[in-house]
Amino acid sequence: MKKIISLLIILLLVGCSNKVEEKVIENEEIIVEEKELTIEDYQNNKVDELGEVPIMMYHGIHNKNNSDTEYIGGNVDKNGYQRTSEAFRNDLEFYYSQGYRMIRLTDYVDGNIDVELGKSPIILTFDDGLENNIKVTGLDEKGNIIIDPNSAVGILESFKEKYPDYNITATFFVNGGLFGQEEYNEKILKWLVENGYDIGNHTYSHVDFTDVDANKSMEQVGRIYELLDSIIPEKYVNIVALPFGSPYSLEHENMQYIFNSNYNNHNYQTKSTLRVGWKSESSPYHINFNPKFLKRIRAYDNNGEEFDIKMNFKLLESTRYISDGDKNIIAIPSSKSELLNNNIQKEVKTYQ
Ligand SMILES: [Zn+2]
Repeated sequence: MKKIISLLIILLLVGCSNKVEEKVIENEEIIVEEKELTIEDYQNNKVDELGEVPIMMYHGIHNKNNSDTEYIGGNVDKNGYQRTSEAFRNDLEFYYSQGYRMIRLTDYVDGNIDVELGKSPIILTFDDGLENNIKVTGLDEKGNIIIDPNSAVGILESFKEKYPDYNITATFFVNGGLFGQEEYNEKILKWLVENGYDIGNHTYSHVDFTDVDANKSMEQVGRIYELLDSIIPEKYVNIVALPFGSPYSLEHENMQYIFNSNYNNHNYQTKSTLRVGWKSESSPYHINFNPKFLKRIRAYDNNGEEFDIKMNFKLLESTRYISDGDKNIIAIPSSKSELLNNNIQKEVKTYQ
């Protein structure tokens, strides 16, 4: 009986092959071609939209090793929270060469993953609003900011030109000092949201929520939303990257003040929190997906151990999300059908 059902599914799939837009780069121009999608496409590309998604956690991007602490590879500090510009460039080359394409964190949380057939989504995040995330060196004659090409955004922008199909984007989680450049902070925020990047909340003064009371928790979250509202109203994301990854549990009493509360007579709502990372997260269509408490990967080198980049991407070789190229259809191997979240409001296709 099971065989007959499987056969029926295959026939169904072959019978109603859907069209997918395939992007081909020719002479650095993206040409969009319509392509009929078949069961062989799913099989050949090992399509699995219940696979795992890496959310990379970065902090500072430094031009050189300015630390006297022990470090490995491209880290500037021994804990791997600070990375060199060179290492960051290499990371971006690595992700691209491995078939990863960027998506916005907010699209992932909302279950809108738009990645080409056979490619996998990756998400970049930066915490702490460090000056080296987007260092402004001055204004041009039109008053536009001039960005240091060796700062994180400067490097990301160069990849927009190099690999147009990489879909460059990242989410920056700021504290009350924003990007530490008083003269340019407002221009920076506006430039980022107008150029495909996102801004999230990292609390006003980088507080550990387990050290403060309810009022302080509300102030720490609400003040950043208020600040962002005053500069980029409705253009930031309601996502909090938890400083120090704390609390470690959704059950903590202060979590309610992060998600849904009030500060200065304004209600605010947070749809997701981000933890301090170690590994990749579930597909947003997986039954285990919980957008309220998302894991990240610490972007650092540690000889392929302790959940560094190398170790995580090795693990992802067999667990990664692989797209069918159609954002409106969730395509999964039939062996995983039971892992699909029943609340998904999209067409689902299974194959063997
Ligand atoms: Zn932080």
